[in-house]
Amino acid sequence: MIFIPLFLLFVFMDWYLAKRKNKSAAFSESNTSLNFIIGSIQQIATVISFYLLLTCVNYTYHNYRITTLSNNWYSWILTYLAIDFVAYWIHRFSHRINIIWASHITHHSSNKFNLSNSFRTSPFQDLNRIPFWILLAFIGFNPQMLFTVFVVSSIIEFFTHTQNAPKLKWMEYIFVTPSLHKVHHGKNDLYIDKNYGSTFIIWDRIFGTFQEETETVEFGIKASSYQDNHAVKAITYYYKDLFKRYKAITSLKEKILIWIMPPEWEPKSIQSSQSISAIANSNTLERNSYYLFGVISLTINILFFFLVLLFKNTMPKLYLFGYSIYYISNMLIAYKLMFLPNMRYKILLLLIKSIVAITVVLFVYVFINHQLHLIYFAVSIVCQLLIFLLYKLIK
Ligand SMILES: [Zn+2]
Repeated sequence: MIFIPLFLLFVFMDWYLAKRKNKSAAFSESNTSLNFIIGSIQQIATVISFYLLLTCVNYTYHNYRITTLSNNWYSWILTYLAIDFVAYWIHRFSHRINIIWASHITHHSSNKFNLSNSFRTSPFQDLNRIPFWILLAFIGFNPQMLFTVFVVSSIIEFFTHTQNAPKLKWMEYIFVTPSLHKVHHGKNDLYIDKNYGSTFIIWDRIFGTFQEETETVEFGIKASSYQDNHAVKAITYYYKDLFKRYKAITSLKEKILIWIMPPEWEPKSIQSSQSISAIANSNTLERNSYYLFGVISLTINILFFFLVLLFKNTMPKLYLFGYSIYYISNMLIAYKLMFLPNMRYKILLLLIKSIVAITVVLFVYVFINHQLHLIYFAVSIVCQLLIFLLYKLIK
């Protein structure tokens, strides 16, 4: 986060160079500002997702690791390779599994490609890393090294989003260069699902997803119905789309499959197109968005509650009690939210929820002076607020 002003300067330089080279089509004002809006939403969410990531990774490392990597120079190289290898697979899954693609699509739905595109990631994307990093900690990779290496590789990744670099000769054999990453952002048939690498392109060469830049790249996603003009839309578009298809599917098996299949998968048991558009046109879609946020809210509350249980031995009993009330009531409310069609009830429920939250915070503040727990609690409340901000925006 501290690098952001510097990164903004680089975006400006990228724009200036593009203009001088008469390539100003690489930028558009509306696209760049949209990228920044999405980026700032993501920055807020990062606080939460990294807190979760850090907690899970540290906990696994300190309790369940099977080996211990010594603090040598070669451990750093090994850690970098491990992170990069894992990043390749996270990225590949992000393109091939619908429910994960729903968060990664935000990064790809921009029809311009420049440094400001690096900022454009969904607030949900960072969560994809958690299971993979738990595995790394389990193997014995030191969390501190993991996070340091991650910062370095993210900075390198940032600079691959530009059209102002030529092909980089021998480097294209080993590294993900701007030209190779440009290919990754193309919607040309030749370029779809290619070059998943983060720092090293070797994984793509090994696992058969490598593609050189041979024809002009067309940026963006294939869906013709998508219009890139709103941050919330860019973040929620594919979740809604998936949900719409889920509703239209009649077979139970396919209702489950839709979430884990690749984006181009088409279910067989779909209702006639007429009834699908009927669904899309009715207020079902609006209700679906409530349902979706109910689900997200429920998931986040279950996650936090799970974390509380993990730390139950290290926290005072009173505190445990406060946490439990808060999360259990939140879960019930989130569950109710999914099914309530009436707006008035929803507002009432939100009100109850806020009162519970404020009471618990006051309770925590008055009775317990454990700062770390207070921060934890604040983060979880900010998280709730964000969900409902989004929930309001989508309305
Ligand atoms: Zn991608």
